[in-house]
Amino acid sequence: LLIFTFLIFGVTWSQDSKNKSVNIDAKVSELLSKMTIEEKVGQMTQITVTIFEDRAKPGYFDAAKLKQGIQDYHIGSILNVPNPGAPTLKRWQETQTAISTEANKTRLKIPILYGIDAIHGASYTAGATLFPQQIGLAATFNPSLVKRGAEISAYETRASSIPWVFSPDLDFPRNPAWSRMWESFGEDAYLSSQMGVALVSGYQGNNVGSKYSVAACMKHYIGYGSTTTGKDRTPSIIPERILRQYDLTIYQAAINAGAKSVMVSSGEINGTPVHASKQLITDILKKELNFQGVVVTDWKDIIYLYTRHKVAESNRDAVRIAIMAGIDMSMVPEDFTFYTDLVDLVKKGEVPMSRIDDAVTRILRMKFELNLFENSVANLKDYPKFGSAEHIQEAYNAAAESITLLKNEASVLPLSKTEKILVTGPTSNSMKYLNGGWSYTWQGENSDTYAAEKSTILEAFQNKLGKENVLYAQGADLEKEDEAEIQKAVELAKTASKIVLCLGEKNYTETPGDISNLYLSSSQIKLALALAKLNKPIVLVLNEGRPRLISDFENKMNAVVQCYLPGNEGARALVDILYGDVNPSGRLPYNYPKYPNSLEKYNRKYTESISEGEQNDDAKYEKSYSPQFEFGTGLSYTTFTYSNLKINKSEITTSEEVNVSVEVSNSGFKAGKEAVLLYLTDNVASITPEFKVLKRFEKISLEPNETKTVKFTLNQKDLQFVNQDLKWIAEPGTFTIQIGNLKKDFSLK
Ligand code: BGC
Repeated sequence: LLIFTFLIFGVTWSQDSKNKSVNIDAKVSELLSKMTIEEKVGQMTQITVTIFEDRAKPGYFDAAKLKQGIQDYHIGSILNVPNPGAPTLKRWQETQTAISTEANKTRLKIPILYGIDAIHGASYTAGATLFPQQIGLAATFNPSLVKRGAEISAYETRASSIPWVFSPDLDFPRNPAWSRMWESFGEDAYLSSQMGVALVSGYQGNNVGSKYSVAACMKHYIGYGSTTTGKDRTPSIIPERILRQYDLTIYQAAINAGAKSVMVSSGEINGTPVHASKQLITDILKKELNFQGVVVTDWKDIIYLYTRHKVAESNRDAVRIAIMAGIDMSMVPEDFTFYTDLVDLVKKGEVPMSRIDDAVTRILRMKFELNLFENSVANLKDYPKFGSAEHIQEAYNAAAESITLLKNEASVLPLSKTEKILVTGPTSNSMKYLNGGWSYTWQGENSDTYAAEKSTILEAFQNKLGKENVLYAQGADLEKEDEAEIQKAVELAKTASKIVLCLGEKNYTETPGDISNLYLSSSQIKLALALAKLNKPIVLVLNEGRPRLISDFENKMNAVVQCYLPGNEGARALVDILYGDVNPSGRLPYNYPKYPNSLEKYNRKYTESISEGEQNDDAKYEKSYSPQFEFGTGLSYTTFTYSNLKINKSEITTSEEVNVSVEVSNSGFKAGKEAVLLYLTDNVASITPEFKVLKRFEKISLEPNETKTVKFTLNQKDLQFVNQDLKWIAEPGTFTIQIGNLKKDFSLK
C-alpha cells in the first residue's frame, strides 16, 4: 500500500509540475501577445532606485525615479543595494509595497522583479542570519549543511519581499590573488559543482513560487575568475578545451539543478567581452547547456562594451551587440538609453522581434514561477523564524564545519582554560573582518551595523573565559606600521602562556580588493616576527578571503587555523574549536601557496610536480610543487585511520560502473567529523593527465573506536576528459583511485 501510495504521489507530483509549466507557458504567451514593443523592452531593463550620494540616509529610496522607471519606461526589474545600512523587515515591506503599488498602476500590472546580493544570508536586512562566505562553505565539504543554509537565506530574503538573489558564485579562480576568490568555492571544479547545486536547490526549494524560496542567479558567466593578472575585471585567456573541461561543468550542474537565472561576466575571454559573445551566451549557454532562464548583464556592462572594452562605437551599437549575443536583461543602464536605443533598434529592424520575445518570455516565465503576480509583498506573520535561534544555530554549524586546522605542532591546540591567553592582531576585535563584503553595505565597511550581541574573536574569548581572564592588545593595524603597538603586544605577551594571533585582510568587494602583493601586509608580518622572538606557543588565526602568503613566519607558528570569512557566528565557532569543545573538520578548498611564483593547483600536471626523489633519466625536473598547505588539508583533534580500500572490478567496459568502498575508523579519543575524499588519476591519456583530481567526497561523523564503510560509485563520465577535438571521451587504460593514502588500480577496456 505504501509503495502504491508513493507511486500515485510520484505520478501526481510530476503530472502537477508538468501541468504547472504548461500553464505558465500559456500565461506567458498570452501576456506577451498583448505587449507593445516599449512594454517588452521595459521588461528587459533593470534599474537601481537607491540614491548612492546620500550616505546620510540609510537606504534612501528615490521615489521619483521609481515612478519614472515604472510609468514612463515600463521597467521590469529593480536591484538595490541599500547603502549604507540594513533596512528592517518592516522597511523592506514598505519599499516593496511602494514598488508593487506603482506596478499595479500600469496597463498590464506586471510585477517588478527585485534582485539583491544576499550572498551569505539576507545580508541587507537588519537582524538577518549571516553565514560564512562561499569559500568557507566550500571548506565544509558538506553540501547538505550548505543547502540548509541556503534554505534559511531564502526564507529570510523572501521575508524581506525579495524573490531573487545574485548567488551562487560559480567562478573558477585560477589566480588566488583574485579579489573575488572568497565569493567562489575555490579551485576545484567538482567541489564547486556540488556546492553550487547545494546553493541552487536550497534557494529554490521544490517550488520556487513558495513564499520561502527565491530564484538563484549563477554568476559570473564565464571565465570571470580566471584573470591572468588576478585583478578584477581584467582579461582572461582560456582555451576552449579547458573552458569545457572545468568552467562549463560547474554551470551545467547548476543548470541541471534548475537555476533560474545567470549573470554574465564583466570580463573578456580570449579578446571577446563575454557580453558581446554570441558563441558563449547563445550557442553554448542557451543552446548547448539548454539554459532556459534569464540572462542578466552585470553592472552597467552594456555601457562598458562601448566605454571600456571598445568593441562598440556607441551605446546604441553596444546594446545591439549585447542583445544579439543573447542578453535578456540589462542591469543598470543608468539613464534609460538602453531602453530608448533598443526600442529604436527593434523598430528599424536591426534587432529582430524574435530576440526580444525570447528575452521577455524568459523574464515573464520567471515572474510567474516566482508567483509574483499573486504575491510580491511578504506578510511578516509568515516568517516567525527570521533571525531565530534555530537559524543562528545553522550559521554556527556552517562556520564550525568550515574552520580549517592547518597545523597543530606538538598539540598546542586545544587550549586549556587554565592557560593565560593573549589575544592580539588587527582582525581580533571586529565583526566586519569576519563577514567581508556584501554585508550590510557593498564592501561591508560599517562595523556598527552589527548587532551588539554578535561577538568578535576577542569577545568570544571573553565570553568563554570571563573578561578579566583574557589579555588583549591590537598589536598592529592591517595596513599602517606602528612600532609602539607591536611593543605593547610584546610586553603583554610576556605575561601570557600562549598567544592567539589574528591576522588577515580588510573587508573588500570587487576592484577595491585588488592587490599587487599576495603576502600578508608588512605591519602584520612584523607583529608575528616580534611575538615569535618570545619563544612562546603561537596560534595563528587567519581571517582572509584568499590565501595571503605567510611563508615569512609560518615556521615560527605552532598552530595555524584558517577561518576564511566565517560570518556572524564565526568567532564563537572558532573559540569553541580552539578550546576543543568542537572538533575541527574543515578542509582547504584551494592550494595555499608558499611563494608568489608557485601558484600550482593541486590537480597539477605530472611534470609540475616531480620531486627530487622521483627523478630519473627521463625526468630531470626541479622540484617546484610545494604549497604551504595542499588542497584538502584539514586536521582534527582525533585520528582517522583508513583501511580496506576495495573496488568491485579491476577491469571494466565502457558501460560499467566501479563501486569503491573504504573503511574509516576514529582511532583517537574524541568524536569528530571527517570529509572522505576520493581522487582519481588517469595514468596515461592523449592529453597530459592531471596528477590527481577530486571525483567524490562524503563527510561522516565518527565516535571514538567507531568504524564506517564509505561507498562511492564512479561511472563513465568520471573517467572522461575533453580531448583535442573538444569531445568528452574516456580512453582505455589504467586508472588509480586514491582515498587517504590508499590506492587501487583498475583498467578500462
Ligand atoms: C558585481 C555582481 C553583483 C552586481 C549587483 C556587480 O558589480 O560584479 O557580482 O551581483 O554588481 O550588485
